[in-house]
Amino acid sequence: MAQKIKGKCKFCGKQYTFSYMNKHLPTCKERQSQLAADTGMKQCGYFELAICFAYSRDYWMFIEIKDTATLRDIDTFLRDIWLECCGHLSAFDIDGISYDIDPEESSAWGEPARSMNCKLSTVLRKGMTFGYEYDFGDTTVLTITVVNYRIKNWKKEKLTILSRNNPHEYVCEECGEKPAALLCAMCYCEGGYGFLCEDCGKTHSCGEEMLLDVCNSPRMGVCGYCGSKRYPDQFVSDVEMNVK
Ligand SMILES: [Zn+2]
Ligand SMILES: [Zn+2]
Ligand SMILES: [Zn+2]
Ligand SMILES: [Zn+2]
Repeated sequence: MAQKIKGKCKFCGKQYTFSYMNKHLPTCKERQSQLAADTGMKQCGYFELAICFAYSRDYWMFIEIKDTATLRDIDTFLRDIWLECCGHLSAFDIDGISYDIDPEESSAWGEPARSMNCKLSTVLRKGMTFGYEYDFGDTTVLTITVVNYRIKNWKKEKLTILSRNNPHEYVCEECGEKPAALLCAMCYCEGGYGFLCEDCGKTHSCGEEMLLDVCNSPRMGVCGYCGSKRYPDQFVSDVEMNVK
């Protein structure tokens, strides 16, 4: 990727790369004034998480989540927005302990796995970094850092996206002109590039059944992943979301 991918701040709309956004969010003036206007009686603790593809800074998100939410809520959200292809297992690795979606099915080596159904307030603390894996075959690995914790006004939403990387733009590999909308899983898997526009997709030598949609996710091109059905791939940082 020639150019570092930016994303938009939910509060002021300015666009920054991952590491600038990390510095910007705690100091954003627009956000500060919103927080200062928070004077309700009912309060709640919120963790702020920086979630990043483990192998590059091309896919990232900053979210805010209630401390009464569970690891399972984060798992559900990550599946919905970035990962779910066919219901694979997943796990968090926090301080050397595995928190699994199905602890019964995990191996008996080392510390026994615990369940994801535990409250964030019992496992997270500000400053820690932990790992997450989806699918133990073609694994997508994410790194999650707890960048902040604050007590503020209670609000209905359990989880809010503060910023998310903008969609990447690829040029069709065959015509070298039009924007790519498709990705050939075969070419991509063999270490090629594999990005194609709609027109070149029709005549691509690997066949149309190999073509996946280009999507804004670290799982693009893996296991037939075709993008999020629940969250469209444009900017979603404006949207406040409930994780059920
Ligand atoms: Zn801002
Ligand atoms: Zn799959
Ligand atoms: Zn083309
Ligand atoms: Zn191909």
